[in-house]
Amino acid sequence: MSSTATRYKAEFRCINESCKSTYDLNEVIYECRKCGSLLQVSHDMDALKEKSGTQWKELFDSRLSSVKFPNTSGIWNKREWVLPHVEDESIVSSGEGLTHLFSSERLTKDLGLGGLWIKQCGISHTGSFKDLGMTVLLTQVKHMISKGVGIRAVACASSGDTSAALASYAAKAGIPSIIFLPSGKVSQAQLIQPVSNGAFVISLDTDFDGCMKIVKEVTRQNGIYLANSMNSLRIEGQKTIAPEILQQLEWKAPDWVIIPGGNLGNVSALGAGFEMCKELGLIDRLPRIILAQAENANPLYLSYLKGFEEFSPVEAKPTLASAIQIGNPVSVQKAISILKKFHGIVEQASEAELSDAAARTDLYGLYNDPHTGVALAAMLKLLEKGTIQKGEKVVVVSTAHGLKFTEFKLKFHEGKVPGTNTGLQNSIHSCKPDLSKVTDRIKEFLDSRTK
Ligand SMILES: *Cc1c(COP(=O)(O)O)cnc(C)c1O
Ligand SMILES: [Zn+2]
Repeated sequence: MSSTATRYKAEFRCINESCKSTYDLNEVIYECRKCGSLLQVSHDMDALKEKSGTQWKELFDSRLSSVKFPNTSGIWNKREWVLPHVEDESIVSSGEGLTHLFSSERLTKDLGLGGLWIKQCGISHTGSFKDLGMTVLLTQVKHMISKGVGIRAVACASSGDTSAALASYAAKAGIPSIIFLPSGKVSQAQLIQPVSNGAFVISLDTDFDGCMKIVKEVTRQNGIYLANSMNSLRIEGQKTIAPEILQQLEWKAPDWVIIPGGNLGNVSALGAGFEMCKELGLIDRLPRIILAQAENANPLYLSYLKGFEEFSPVEAKPTLASAIQIGNPVSVQKAISILKKFHGIVEQASEAELSDAAARTDLYGLYNDPHTGVALAAMLKLLEKGTIQKGEKVVVVSTAHGLKFTEFKLKFHEGKVPGTNTGLQNSIHSCKPDLSKVTDRIKEFLDSRTK
């Protein structure tokens, strides 16, 4: 028997407050036809309010112990808040979400915090949080195809994690995927995921923005569906990061949540998730949000310094945090409005700062990718400045798996990132296979540790 949550309704709504046009979720549409603004998925909040905050918490908590599909996904165990109209048969899930909140007593104490948790969103099927949005997008596409909407393929422009997630979820659903990559600007590790999943990968002699332009044109025709994050279906899935964090903290909001940002879809999603929890009575106060940018790609940081009164795109310079090397973020208006509501802060991190922060906290058992390094560096800087105070509770959103960024790790420990703290570098010690020599080396090591 097919099951849905059809008491609840959702639709696309234009984010422009003076327009607010609405569209059916089964329409192929990415921007408002009247004013050209981005859309968001808007839920029938009155219907959702028929359950109290306590009832929602009990329902969501009861699903955590279920091993039954689709409660095995951190997105679909909250399906009423995401895409209430889809039937089980359309759900394309690879067990995304439900990720661990890493905490280290030692690290928390060393930093003097009242609590520190790293939300491991990158420990996911394709190794980044992009899975959270892609499950929703592919599910809606599969649902539309079942209703007779003519979609022949899904497509995106990407230089990494988006293409990996799209190719995998599309392959799972049996829908062809087309991926546009800027030639020569993509590493082997990033390239091989969509190749393995059978995507049609096209390398274009241009940069990311050039690829974006082409994919926008291509998806205007031909039944090819756009999967970049200007498509607000992605945001709906990523939004569940917020209630999942709260649930793991027994429905108590932390003081701060720190998240790295590039195109700024994820910070918008995080904020939307917290807002929904507050409006539906699951929590009574919001955390403050800190958006962390790489100094080499910091247009929102520059706007924040001017009180968000103006925003100008920048030309993003290369950064080790390659997934956030974006100078003209698509979701900037959504992000600014979220940051204003959450009394938000934007902080930036240099290449050395992000590398040191990642390496320093790796020593507590983490294995940080460079984007999480940006967020951790922002935390350390704001602790230093006294903005984040001793005793406060902090959640850092980790966005990718460190195993996707081996080159970053090697570079750091080989001392190839200028300006970093050399004391954090570790190396391999060669030694003759001779017991007394080995014993001497171990003694040296242990003595250095117990000083
Ligand atoms: C996509 C991505 C980001 C940035 O998310 P936005 O929604 O573009 O701000 C950060 N980290 C990683 C690893 C990503 O793949
Ligand atoms: Zn509009």
